[in-house]
Formats: sequence, C-alpha cells, structure tokens
Amino acid sequence: MFSIKKNWRNWGETASREQASFYTPQSIEDVQNIVIRAKNQNKTIRTVGTGHSFSPVALPDCYAMELSHMTGLIHVDETLQQATFWAGTRLYDVGPLLAASQLALENMGDIDVQTIAGAISTGTHGTGIQLGSISNQIVRWGVVDGNGTYRQITREDAYSESMHISLGLMGVITDVTIQAVPLYGLAYDCSKVTTNTLLSTFQKTVQTNRHAEWFYFPGQTDVQQKVMNPIDPMTVQAKPLSKMDIFLENNVLQYASSLCKVIPKATKLVSNLSAKAVPIGQREDVSYQLFATPRKVKFVECEYAIPIENFEACFEELHETLSRHPYAVHFPIEIRTQKGERGFLSPTQGEDCVFIAFHMYKGMRYEPYFRYVHYVTSKYGGRAHFGKMNHYDEGDFKRQYAKHNIFLAHIEQFDPQGLFRTAFFKRMLK
Ligand SMILES: Cc1cc2nc3c(=O)[nH]c(=O)nc-3n(C[C@H](O)[C@H](O)[C@H](O)COP(=O)(O)OP(=O)(O)OC[C@H]3O[C@@H](n4cnc5c(N)ncnc54)[C@H](O)[C@@H]3O)c2cc1C
Repeated sequence: MFSIKKNWRNWGETASREQASFYTPQSIEDVQNIVIRAKNQNKTIRTVGTGHSFSPVALPDCYAMELSHMTGLIHVDETLQQATFWAGTRLYDVGPLLAASQLALENMGDIDVQTIAGAISTGTHGTGIQLGSISNQIVRWGVVDGNGTYRQITREDAYSESMHISLGLMGVITDVTIQAVPLYGLAYDCSKVTTNTLLSTFQKTVQTNRHAEWFYFPGQTDVQQKVMNPIDPMTVQAKPLSKMDIFLENNVLQYASSLCKVIPKATKLVSNLSAKAVPIGQREDVSYQLFATPRKVKFVECEYAIPIENFEACFEELHETLSRHPYAVHFPIEIRTQKGERGFLSPTQGEDCVFIAFHMYKGMRYEPYFRYVHYVTSKYGGRAHFGKMNHYDEGDFKRQYAKHNIFLAHIEQFDPQGLFRTAFFKRMLK
C-alpha cells in the first residue's frame, strides 16, 4: 500500500523525481484516507498512470498515488452500451473486456498501455474527423476531491466540462463509465502518396474514411497514408503483426536512430530512405487489435491541434522549411484529425482539428526543432496536447483557453487547499 520509489521517470525520460512516496490504494475508501492524510500534512499528492505523458503532468512533488490495484470491469449495461471500469485499468484490457459484451471503444490512439484515467486526463486521441478523444467517450466520472469526498459527475453536471480533461486537478478519478459502441472490425490500408497528393486530397480522404492518418518524413515528398474503415467483426480475417515484424520494425528504427544520434548529418539520408521504404499493405482485425502498435524506440514528442481549415497552409510552410533540413530530425511527423469537442481544456475548443505530432529520438537535440514547430503551429491557431511537451508555462494556457476561469474556479471548489497542484501546475496556472 505504500513504498518509497527512487528515480521515478516518465516513459520519455523528460520528467523525473529522485525520491517519492507512492501509495497504492485498493478501494475508494483507501483513496479518501490517503487524500485526507496528505491534506492534514499539507503536502501535494499526484496520481500517476503509467507515466506515458511527455510533459511533467504526472510528476509528483513528494507524494504520489498509483491505481494499479484498482483495475478491471465493474459493470456493463448492455442496453445503454455503457461499461464502468476502475480508473487504473489499462487500455489494452478495456478492448477484450468490452468485446466480451460485443462492445468496443469508439476510437483509440497509437498505443494501449496507458491507464484509462491517465488517457482521459490529458485528452488522449486517435484519428477520425467524426470522432472525439477517449475523454469524449466518458459519460460519468467517480472522483475523490481534495476534501476526501467521493463525487459522481455525469455529462449533465456543470462540472463535466472540467472533468473532460482535468490533468488530475479535480481530484483522483477512481472509476469511469464509458459510452461504448457495438463491436466492430476494421480494415486497414497503408499506401504511399506524395506531399502534393496529400494536400490535394486531404479534406476528401478525411471525410470519406472513418480513420485517416499520415506519416510525413521531414523534407521528403513520399508520405505514408493509413486509412481504416469498419467491417463486420464476425468476418474479419485477423492477421496479427508477427513478433518478427515488430522486432524488425523497431530494430531498424533503433539502429538508424543510434546512427543519427552519433552523426546528426545522417538524418537527411535516413529520413529519405525511411520515406522511400514506407511499409504498404492491408490488414484487418477487430478494432482494438488494429489501433495500437508497440513502441520500443524511445523518443520525445510535442503535438498541436490546429483548426482543420488551416491544415494545408500550415503543412506547406512546414514542408517548405523542412525541405532545407535545418534541423537534424529523422522521426516522421504524424498527422491525425479529431472532431471538435466540449471540455474547457480540449485543445480542439469545439472546432474540428488536425493534430500534428513532432518527434525526436531520445538523446538528440530537440529544443530548436520544437521551438520552431511551436512558432509555426501557433501562427495557424495551434494548441498543444497537454500530455506532450509544451510551452503552457509561458502564459499560453490562459490566452488559448477561453473558459480557463471557470476551470480554475472548479478546481478551487474541488481542491481548495491545492492538494493536487504540484510545483509544475503552480507555474502553469499562474
Ligand atoms: C509512445 C507513446 C505513444 C502515445 N500515443 C498517443 C496517441 O496516440 N494519442 C494521444 O493523444 N496521446 C498519446 N500519447 C500520450 C499519452 O496517451 C498521454 O500522455 C496519457 O495521458 C498517458 O496516460 P498514462 O496512464 O501514462 O498517464 P500519466 O502520463 O501517468 O498521467 C497523465 C495525467 O493523468 C493524471 N492521472 C493519472 N491517473 C489519474 C487518476 N486516477 N485520477 C486523476 N488524474 C490521474 C496524472 O496526474 C497526469 O496529470 C502517447 C505517449 C507515448 C509515450
């Protein structure tokens, strides 16, 4: 139930704490007691998911909580197609548990190792212009606030817009109810297109496929395009990625990245070869098996949501600059879409958006590149993903989120003592 962790680090190794006290509650009552103890000692406490955020949103000051014993399915309402889970459940368990009732998540991101609570607290998203983030699939939150009171918030409640993406500032989410959809299969088609085709067909491809995403190698004209569309789950001809495919894909990238780290000038060649060799082909499976792929090569990342109508101009500007290779970068830029959704801290702010994600191999110099993409995406109305590296501590937060005052008032009501406001958040919310 309690242990001292030395050298806690997030996945990207961009946030670390030499020593922190970690609690692992087993029930809502345990969570309440831990919160009250931290409150009485005047300490902050942070709930950590799996530490897959690149920004320090999960970084504890000295006390932390992990819901690794509060996992699994609590209840399914098959009529309403709603399922209630303990908040520490990993996304990779959600798919099979829902499938047992012929249900599925409406959409998922690239990986599935995150906890449900961690994923929804930062607005983790996949791609699809008709679809929202994983936060958007939640219809009820069970949360222990800063007074140790367990509250249940539904979509009808005034606090729901603050719970939508709450960054752990409203309290400890203990359980959530997901609005699921009927189980579906997906057929996936990966092809190679040029930057010109990407630009001229972008809006149509986005509108005519349930999911569409692109991997653009900085400065290259060949782009990987991946679209996925629903098929009958009973007829899927599942062909999971083999261990060899996963090994090869990750190892080739690992070797190429190690080379680029030692010889940054090699990034231009590696980027060129990667673009030429993009894997193409088709696969099909039940939805939760196709969304996620193992990511074994470590990188750092920032990601921005820009209004969809600004995408082409933003991309042209990025491509024009990156074609001159001013930054040593070989990791692809990922382009996805999301329907505008509610939530005071949704980076979409209600508008249909394109998410553009920028990566750099861990250990390579990323600051000038990330500063540049922050500058360009800002010109096109970009708002940063809270779970990725960002500049929110520099005042963007208040400028970019019209209803930040209501969010701040809600966190004050839920957490008057500032129990969940770690040093990172005190700076960000200044
Ligand atoms: C390899 C990789 C791939 C990724 N792919 C995607 C992607 O496709 N799409 C996307 O949008 N993002 C993606 N991300 C980002 C990731 O999904 C988010 O950062 C997510 O929040 C991580 O979940 P976690 O469980 O690790 O939570 P953490 O990173 O540990 O925590 C995230 C936030 O949630 C809070 N929190 C955690 N549990 C609770 C709780 N029980 N109650 C209250 N607050 C809580 C934490 O305090 C913190 O503020 C990726 C990250 C990596 C490293």
